[in-house]
Amino acid sequence: MKVVVVGLGVMGLPTARALADRGHEVIGIDRHGISAPAGSSAGATRIFRLAHDRPGDIVLARKSLERWRALEAGSGEQLLDHVGLVLRGDLAPAWAATLRDAGVPVEELDAAGVQRVFPELAHRPQEPAAFVPDDGVLFAAKGLAAMAAAARAAGAELSTPERMLELEETPAGVRVTTNLRVLDADIAVLAVGPWAQTVLEPLGIRLPLAPGIGQVSYWRGGGAWERRPSLIDFVAPDKMGVYGLPTPGKGYKIGLDYGCEATWDPDATAWPHRGYEEECNRDWVISHAPGLASDGPHLTESCPWTLTPDNEYFIDRRGPITVATGCSGHAFKFMPIIGELIGDIAEGKPAWAEADIYGIDRMAPDTPFERVETPMGPRVGI
Ligand SMILES: Cc1cc2nc3c(=O)[nH]c(=O)nc-3n(C[C@H](O)[C@H](O)[C@H](O)COP(=O)(O)OP(=O)(O)OC[C@H]3O[C@@H](n4cnc5c(N)ncnc54)[C@H](O)[C@@H]3O)c2cc1C
Repeated sequence: MKVVVVGLGVMGLPTARALADRGHEVIGIDRHGISAPAGSSAGATRIFRLAHDRPGDIVLARKSLERWRALEAGSGEQLLDHVGLVLRGDLAPAWAATLRDAGVPVEELDAAGVQRVFPELAHRPQEPAAFVPDDGVLFAAKGLAAMAAAARAAGAELSTPERMLELEETPAGVRVTTNLRVLDADIAVLAVGPWAQTVLEPLGIRLPLAPGIGQVSYWRGGGAWERRPSLIDFVAPDKMGVYGLPTPGKGYKIGLDYGCEATWDPDATAWPHRGYEEECNRDWVISHAPGLASDGPHLTESCPWTLTPDNEYFIDRRGPITVATGCSGHAFKFMPIIGELIGDIAEGKPAWAEADIYGIDRMAPDTPFERVETPMGPRVGI
């Protein structure tokens, strides 16, 4: 088959590779380019974690880890650093129990244990914590470059910048009109990230999606942060709250796990800095990670999220069009394996059991989003 993959973020690239590996003629296009700051996959690092509260996600994360390692071996670049992950707060014991049941090594930490693995964190003696040594950091930009190289090596043509202007169904499949050419193909995969609403609605596909902005800030603290674990701090009883991860060359990255709704600008090439969110990051660091606070933040970055009401993606097919969107802030780590799933769905193969939760009919287009109170006022929950 001839396939056009629109969008070459971390959803589109492994899909292009999976379909090219299977012998299809694949053309991938992206209006901004791979790792461009306007998209959700931009930036140097993401957390990699086996740690999840749902056993099915641990299964997917394990399969994905195998793919990341194979990509690493093929690229000759280090793509993962297993610096570990600290889970801290009321939900840590439940997550640790789920990991233990799945056979993933996990260590419950007392206050002394927290100080041992992450000395810059504040002493919170009453709070449960756990350490997952096999988790850590993904080098996201290098990972995308490796995915693009693997897709090209499998025979895919990747073209950037090239923008899809229109998509029509034809008797033979699809016609994709771009700013450069007209592409007739059997099928199209739309992995357009935060642009999904503007691309899908003209095709009659309405999904409950909210674009949001994630903003992260970097601290260098005493300088030992490069080897510190990634972090999830469940600051509220049922919320992840704050996450952190070391980002070599930049600092220890801190972000609030709340989606700030954005007024959607389909032509955005970058996202505005928001001072109040940086203040919230700073307040958290001063109170909860004082060892990082001495000199920061020295850098703040913004990146768009695509939120869904249940925090899961939409991956499904309508005729010759496959939709793959809804990153909700935690998709990067899964994508080498999810790209294979998107490839299966695009080929019309029966979806895997795990894919049931990604169907586009699982909720109505007007499904409301949960609102959570945050230090910055009400936000869409993640
Ligand atoms: C601040 C932040 C922190 C995160 N932290 C983590 C983490 O720690 N761990 C984790 O696993 N995940 C994390 N994520 C989530 C992860 O990064 C995203 O889920 C993922 O990058 C989404 O990828 P995507 O391919 O769906 O979207 P994108 O990367 O945005 O790709 C969509 C692409 O489509 C292109 N496009 C759009 N319209 C068109 C068109 N008409 N024609 C051609 N091209 C088009 C765009 O240019 C874009 O490149 C985080 C996300 C953010 C924002």
